[in-house]
Amino acid sequence: METGTVRALVQGAPVAEDTPPLSPRNRAALHTAAAERLAAEGSWEQAYTHLCSAVRLLQGEPPQDELDRLRREHAEAREQSRRDSLTASYNRRYLDERLAALLSEVDLRIGLCLALVDIDHFKLVNDTHGHLFGDRVLQRMVTELDAALPETAFCARYGGEEFALVLPGRDLAQAVEISEQARERIARFDWSELHDELRVTVSIGVAHAEGRIADVDRLIGEADQLLYTAKAAGRNAVAYRAARGGHVRLAGAAGARRSIPQPVRTTG
Ligand code: GH3
Ligand code: MG
Ligand code: MG
Repeated sequence: METGTVRALVQGAPVAEDTPPLSPRNRAALHTAAAERLAAEGSWEQAYTHLCSAVRLLQGEPPQDELDRLRREHAEAREQSRRDSLTASYNRRYLDERLAALLSEVDLRIGLCLALVDIDHFKLVNDTHGHLFGDRVLQRMVTELDAALPETAFCARYGGEEFALVLPGRDLAQAVEISEQARERIARFDWSELHDELRVTVSIGVAHAEGRIADVDRLIGEADQLLYTAKAAGRNAVAYRAARGGHVRLAGAAGARRSIPQPVRTTG
């Protein structure tokens, strides 16, 4: 009878009002089920609280070292769920979550800048040296991009050979400067430690969300369009839009040297 009540609660079904109170074991089962559901949704804090309640119900108050172990495992699991397995950079899931949170709390005067970085002709690196070698280039790329970022910024693997740099608290001019420095760092890096003739460059599109634009997709879409322009302008370049709705420019010396095909603006 009581087991049936627990099953109903776990499945979210209504339970009769005169149902007798649950035993500690079944209350623990409810907490465990809630923890599993919340963990699957990525709500680690709440999942952890439920898990602790389950342990307490099953064992009475757990000893301190057991709580410490749970805390440690919880922190490790949360960190792992945020990381890309190949490069150990933040992953797409973390990027989406952080961007949504940052956009909702953004300082209206500064906005939020996002740079999309794409390795130039990376397919050629794989074709020439093999995929395992390509993987090592990706790993090194993350180390170099991280080293090019100020403390409050972070790098996340957006997918494949593309990375996002998120630059909270920086205006567009600062974000363009940081992105240009990152581009230069990659271009000047001594890739010969991986292979004698290896040269690697990146193209970058820097987008700026002004005011309260709580729309992650539009920010990424704008950065993607600017990245495409940097590619079309010859690669190894940083593209940005000088003013809202204005012309696209290239950062640094390339801005004066190269012609820039203006992207067709999408509406929405
Ligand atoms: P572009 O300058 O236009 O960006 O050219 P590209 O060759 O970099 O672009 P393309 O989209 O043609 O190729 C991207 C390549 O990235 C193809 C794919 O195999 C490779 N790639 C994506 N993810 C990984 C990965 O995890 N490891 C390795 N080694 N290669 C990857
Ligand atoms: Mg790409
Ligand atoms: Mg590429």
